Amino acid sequence: MNTEKEKRPSGQKEPLTDIYLVISESTGNSQVGYTHSCGTDIICKTVDHPVFNNLSSECSTGESRIIWTPYCPHCEEAPADIGDIIYKSEQSAN
Ligand SMILES: [Zn+2]
Repeated sequence: MNTEKEKRPSGQKEPLTDIYLVISESTGNSQVGYTHSCGTDIICKTVDHPVFNNLSSECSTGESRIIWTPYCPHCEEAPADIGDIIYKSEQSAN
């Protein structure tokens, strides 16, 4: 299906800083935009994350959270339209 060289999944974060890998590998800033180490401009895609009440819940609350996910179209796969489930009990952990 994809004849290009293998891309890594997008949306990965540095475990310690919680910064997107693609951003930490880039130059630039939020004012002018980011350029990845390969020279490609970083683009952002909105990802819809369904919100569940807590870890034991199997039901969606019906809410969703739109999160802007940056990725490099040259090195990374585009983020899926629907992202990982967000559990409300985790939201305040930040
Ligand atoms: Zn790149």
